[in-house]
Amino acid sequence: MKKLILALAVFLGVAACKTNPFTGKKVLNFYPNSQIFPMAFAQYDQFLTENNVIENSSEAKMITKVGQRISSAAERWLTANGYAGYLKDYKWEYNLVKDETVNAWCMPGGKIVFYTGILPITQNETGVAVVMGHEVAHALADHGAQRMSAGTLQQLGAVAGNVAIQDPQKRNIFNQAYGVGSQVGVMLPFSRSHETEADRIGLQIMAIAGYNPDEAAELWKRMKANSGGQAPPEFMSTHPSNDTRIANLTQWAPLARAEAKKFGVTSFE
Ligand SMILES: [Zn+2]
Repeated sequence: MKKLILALAVFLGVAACKTNPFTGKKVLNFYPNSQIFPMAFAQYDQFLTENNVIENSSEAKMITKVGQRISSAAERWLTANGYAGYLKDYKWEYNLVKDETVNAWCMPGGKIVFYTGILPITQNETGVAVVMGHEVAHALADHGAQRMSAGTLQQLGAVAGNVAIQDPQKRNIFNQAYGVGSQVGVMLPFSRSHETEADRIGLQIMAIAGYNPDEAAELWKRMKANSGGQAPPEFMSTHPSNDTRIANLTQWAPLARAEAKKFGVTSFE
């Protein structure tokens, strides 16, 4: 039976490896958008009903505005690189939630939440764009889906022989992969390589959207000053370290400007 599971895993792995346009990497992904997005949309809606969503404040409007600029920049980048329609199943939504947690996240399909607790650190629209770019980049790079696929392999081992993953199991794997229901809020820390990837992709997208990429390193300096040695959920995970992050972002900012120039963006706010 072990052999069967192994064979199945290998088969799924071969069948489910596709190249992500943002990372250029072949990654393990068993789940097409058509399977993940409905679960994400349902979880997101439930989260909104259970939390205090701020509507129509100037800050809430600013979150929406930045989100729209970032998502449209991602779409422009994809179209220019031969991936028009890649985000057709996305249903972008940007919400500000009253909560002192210093966090923000993006679920699959473009479902974004900012907590009010992060606003003193983002400070302004460009700071929000840094965080927005980073979170959207996690979704674009399918980081959650990869974690879900890894979780499925574990489950395949665990359920020995029960090779068909049932819907309730799938929901469990989804919840684990995205940290739904855990007390840290929706989104577990990503791995170091995923964080670094999201920083790099996010920086490019924010620049294409017309936001100054030099501000990304500045935001992380403020994060570092605020974190006081603590490692809060997802957004301030300790890997990579703040110092590595700041050094990377400083080094990449000119590249992000060069990328933005291809889209006619030469001045930044
Ligand atoms: Zn992250």
